Amino acid sequence: MYVDLANIHIDETGIYVTFYDEEWIQVTELHKDEKGFSVVMNKDKWASILWKCPGCGFENKFWKRTCENCGYRPRH
Ligand SMILES: [Zn+2]
Repeated sequence: MYVDLANIHIDETGIYVTFYDEEWIQVTELHKDEKGFSVVMNKDKWASILWKCPGCGFENKFWKRTCENCGYRPRH
C-alpha cells in the first residue's frame, strides 16, 4: 500500500500512517522503492479503517474510493 510522504509520521515510538485525515495507525515496516513509500499492514487492520463521507455521513471501507451511498469522491 503506497502512502504519501505527508501522511507518514515517524518518531521514537514508531512509524505511523494516516488516511483521510483520520486516526494515526502504527505500522511495523516502511518500504521505499521507485514508486515511493509503502507500508505493510495486516488485513484485519485494514478492515477496521473507515472513512466518513462528508456529503452524507456514510462510513465507507478504506479501500472504497467513492462513497458507497452517494458516490462522493474524496479529493485525495
Ligand atoms: Zn456519501
